[in-house]
Amino acid sequence: MSNVLVFCEVKEGQLSPLSFECLSEARRIADEYGSKVIAALLGDAVSALASECGKGGADRVLVCQDSVLKHYNDEIYGAVLADMISQESINHVIGSATFYGKALFGRLAALSNGALIPDATAINFDGDKIVVEHPGYGGNAILKFGFNTENVKIITLRPKAFVPEEGLSREAEAADFAFDSSKYESKAKVVEKVSEGGGEVPLTEADIIVSGGRGLKEADNYKLVEDLAKKLGAAAGASRAIVDAEWVPYKRQVGQTGKTVNPKLYIACGISGAIQHLAGMQSSKYIVAINKDPDAPIFKVATWGIVGNALEILPILTEKL
Ligand SMILES: Cc1cc2nc3c(=O)[nH]c(=O)nc-3n(C[C@H](O)[C@H](O)[C@H](O)COP(=O)(O)OP(=O)(O)OC[C@H]3O[C@@H](n4cnc5c(N)ncnc54)[C@H](O)[C@@H]3O)c2cc1C
Repeated sequence: MSNVLVFCEVKEGQLSPLSFECLSEARRIADEYGSKVIAALLGDAVSALASECGKGGADRVLVCQDSVLKHYNDEIYGAVLADMISQESINHVIGSATFYGKALFGRLAALSNGALIPDATAINFDGDKIVVEHPGYGGNAILKFGFNTENVKIITLRPKAFVPEEGLSREAEAADFAFDSSKYESKAKVVEKVSEGGGEVPLTEADIIVSGGRGLKEADNYKLVEDLAKKLGAAAGASRAIVDAEWVPYKRQVGQTGKTVNPKLYIACGISGAIQHLAGMQSSKYIVAINKDPDAPIFKVATWGIVGNALEILPILTEKL
């Protein structure tokens, strides 16, 4: 029997909420093919999280614990997952297309001689074949991919594009997966991890994002975006124009060379809607645009638009809310 392996990301000692999206989708694939969902838990002290994987729909959990695994490392994590694939009869692998996932799964595909379809926004079945959807051409087309291999098939899910199903909880059987530190070596070593987040909601996990662009005129006015974001319990994002201008750090950039986000609500303030920005936010459920130019391209993708001066509208919105 060929099973579905899920890489469950652990952040600050907790299972990332995105892992539940992966487990739920893996459950759907396993049920379709009559196979099992195996969760891969890697870290320095992660065994207590095994039951959480069961709640998300895993039948079994492979726990690989070692102090070397404390910090995510492409080379070592990739090698451990490749060994899990060869030892556990794995046919599909599911993970998140996060910052880590983007680096990890390409490596894993090469190590396991498999194939990768990244950044999926939907997974369907056509007979016994799996069909993966992924937005292309800056979000202007939905591309459908299938696998042309009998080897392991890896799919990464766009964060927040999938809603975890309820009622998948089960008692997962946990097993240790031996970590041989002489076998898993890396040329790189994480010396220190510094979190920039400061307790903020990460852009890729936020349900609501308020983003600002060059239309805010000057760096100090970004505070208007942050005020509204705070009011809504949202994350604050930005266009590349104001990241390049050093008004805000890169971690806030949304778009082709920034984060791909998928919130329920995206509020774009003084952002023109260049194709590279749209590539990172066009799949948001609802988009509100505030722009003083009625012909700005952002209005083409907006659910609702406000034509006006963001510097006047933002404080009013924040106050009314
Ligand atoms: C390879 C490549 C990769 C890129 N990657 C990204 C990326 O990841 N993310 C990204 O965002 N961009 C990216 N870009 C840049 C992109 O092409 C645009 O230049 C950028 O998105 C523009 O940012 P902006 O909308 O803030 O600024 P502008 O395009 O200057 O738009 C400002 C908007 O504000 C409006 N405005 C002005 N004053 C006000 C006001 N008072 N109130 C309301 N509205 C007002 C204007 O009408 C205008 O529409 C990339 C470009 C390249 C070439």
